[in-house]
Amino acid sequence: SITLSNRVKAVKPSPTLAITARAAAMRAAGKDIIGLGAGEPDFDTPDHIKASAVKALDNGFTKYTAVDGIPSLKKAIAQKFKSDNGLDYELKQILVSSGGKQSFYNLAQALLNPGDEVIIPAPYWVSYPDMVLLADGVPVIVEAGQSQNFKITPAQLRAAISDKTRLFVINSPSNPTGAAYSLDELKALGEVLQDYPNVLIATDDMYEHILWNKGGFVNILNARPDFYPRTIVLNGVSKAYSMTGWRIGYCAGPADLIEAMCIIQSQSTSNPTSISQVAAETALTGDQSCIDTMMVEFKKRHDFVVAELNSVDGIDCLPTDGTFYVFPNVEKLLNRLDGIDDDLQFAEYLIEKAGVALVPGSAFGCPGHIRISIATSMANLENALARIKQAV
Ligand code: PLP
Repeated sequence: SITLSNRVKAVKPSPTLAITARAAAMRAAGKDIIGLGAGEPDFDTPDHIKASAVKALDNGFTKYTAVDGIPSLKKAIAQKFKSDNGLDYELKQILVSSGGKQSFYNLAQALLNPGDEVIIPAPYWVSYPDMVLLADGVPVIVEAGQSQNFKITPAQLRAAISDKTRLFVINSPSNPTGAAYSLDELKALGEVLQDYPNVLIATDDMYEHILWNKGGFVNILNARPDFYPRTIVLNGVSKAYSMTGWRIGYCAGPADLIEAMCIIQSQSTSNPTSISQVAAETALTGDQSCIDTMMVEFKKRHDFVVAELNSVDGIDCLPTDGTFYVFPNVEKLLNRLDGIDDDLQFAEYLIEKAGVALVPGSAFGCPGHIRISIATSMANLENALARIKQAV
């Protein structure tokens, strides 16, 4: 057998993609499986976005572009940051990549030296720790359980910072919990960060538009404009415009950091797909009502699923601020069910016995929970909830 690098041996394949693949394989084998594992909206990409891509294709816009993205898309991104977030960026501060995943990957590769620490609140998006490991960095996980609404406290942040800390990652609203930090909570974290000027901050705003909290969307730069020189804002069109397969993410931050990330990109993937860039530009500059249509539907499903879950003895599910996930605590249920000791076994039990595929909380650094994606039809959700109730 082939001896592989220590680097690849240190990481695992994405557990969320694995569960989706497993559900697909079981379905192909004739099993009736309802998938609640998906990390993508179930809606089609809006027609006006698709039409612009078809036009780009017909016009022969099918060649290499600038590595960092076409100027017209970068202008649309700068405009988006200005109007949605009140943030000013020059084009040289913006990098377009093949999905939000590549944006963070570039960041880790450009920023981290061996042993550099990255503070990652848990529950976390599955890819952060592994992308840090792939850059020879050290993930420092700070646990924020349900009792603290899945949000870390300033004291926890302070305790996690060391002289090796290079980066602090905030993802709000969060995959997998759907929890969003308020402006006051971000200000409180800012009080800690102001004592550590060498710590960079990455705010992953991927779910910015899928939000129904009271205060509306805010990130750390809204709370602390003075952190602008050491903050990188990550975002993308995948979730907001149901464009996961198009692979367009973008970020903005200090020009020298963006330039370094662009070097990584230039020696790995080069420019993101030319046609997708045109589509992303249309998404950002065109009619935004497609977002509201999805939002209304997600909220309706959220309300239904949270209420149904909480009606089950042993399941405790917080309502979320946004995203298309809910993250119920099932610890009491695990205590009650014979032969099922943890969330991994519970997820296995549900897929085998109830035909419901979902991701165990352990994948996100939070055992005793499960992540349910509500990015599927109401009919599927009703059916899935009935099956879960039956199974437990
Ligand atoms: N950030 C978060 C928090 C996510 O949940 C995801 C996707 O699951 C991404 C970034 C990356 O999205 P993509 O690479 O599909 O644009």
